[in-house]
Amino acid sequence: MSKTQEYIEKGEKYLLKTYNRYPVVLDRGEGVYLYDVDGNRYLDFGAGIAVFALGYRNQKYNDALKGQIDKILHTSNLFYNVPAVDAAEKIVKTSGMDKVFFTNSGAEAIEGALKVARKYAYLKDPSKEYEFIAMHHSFHGRSQGALSVTGNVHYQEGFVPEKMRAVFAKFNDFDDVKAKITDRTCGIICEVVQGEGGIYPADKEFLEGLRTLCDEKDILLIFDEVQCGMGRCGALYAHELYGVKPDVMALAKALGCGVPVGAFVTARKASCALVPGDHGTTYGGNPFATAAVCSVYDIFEEEQIVEHVKQVGTYLYEKLEAVKEAHEEIIDHRGLGLMQGLEFDGPVGDIIKKAMDRGLILMSAGANILRFVPPLIITEEHVDEMCRILEGVLAR
Ligand SMILES: *Cc1c(COP(=O)(O)O)cnc(C)c1O
Repeated sequence: MSKTQEYIEKGEKYLLKTYNRYPVVLDRGEGVYLYDVDGNRYLDFGAGIAVFALGYRNQKYNDALKGQIDKILHTSNLFYNVPAVDAAEKIVKTSGMDKVFFTNSGAEAIEGALKVARKYAYLKDPSKEYEFIAMHHSFHGRSQGALSVTGNVHYQEGFVPEKMRAVFAKFNDFDDVKAKITDRTCGIICEVVQGEGGIYPADKEFLEGLRTLCDEKDILLIFDEVQCGMGRCGALYAHELYGVKPDVMALAKALGCGVPVGAFVTARKASCALVPGDHGTTYGGNPFATAAVCSVYDIFEEEQIVEHVKQVGTYLYEKLEAVKEAHEEIIDHRGLGLMQGLEFDGPVGDIIKKAMDRGLILMSAGANILRFVPPLIITEEHVDEMCRILEGVLAR
């Protein structure tokens, strides 16, 4: 029996089955390549779902983590710790926002962001039962609060009672959002580029409209940049591309580049809503996780990752346009930077399996959309290599 088979059998025996996993057991990584336990090599265009921006075995990043392990891994939030303070400073200075709360995941960052908006409204008028406006086809995470604003009934069904769900509006349809505002709305939440829902970038006028509407109503605008942030779209934070600032921003995925860490970041009036006792976490912002964050920001700056994403992102766009032109089963191509999608006229599961057999890892975003979210250090040669394999799969 191959090692792969051995671990798949063991995994099926012991891991709770909430995923239909691909039959690959990953073992190690090197740059933008992954290796399974039987030594097969894969070009990685998934980055562990838009996480591993710096690629695998970045020596500087690994050394920073090893150094922190020998100092201290955990302190609790009853004390200050050096990496958390430094990491928060980097986030504030690069975003122009004010305050940071570190979490362990994207879903928790969303939970915190929702609490900020609820509390802000509550402080003005504690008599109402507040609700959110969220977008159809959005994805904000699997915890109860994050699910309540996730615009996918399949994820909500059986877990979030109807009266706890947000009011859902059409993404990029400002009139629909405006029509759904009531005096109970305490916030509007959306991704700047929808990820799981199918790689849909927001329109500029839409985000501008939301900003004006939130200001008029004195409610909070929350941008979920868990997937589209951290350089992914060709700006450190995707909303920079639109010139529209949120009151609260959620980050995770590439924030720690593999170490589980998220954050919600507040600006101006949103920064005063939560006070001591209102929110907490045992692990969130621990020195190990935030040492990773510090290292990520340092390497982004030294290696000019965002500049690189702009260049390679443009190259990827041109290449995927050519793929689209050559195949009539591809009905749309969209995205920003190194977050792009090809929409097919049917399910893409088979394409993903065949690509994997040929040593290319791709992901889907919804049933019909191939998602391209490679490590941000990918080069034009890697894009060419990916396109060759993809063309080979599509030719059959
Ligand atoms: C992945 C994701 C989340 C949830 O993050 P987790 O770390 O899985 O909890 C939230 N929002 C968006 C946009 C995401 O892509």
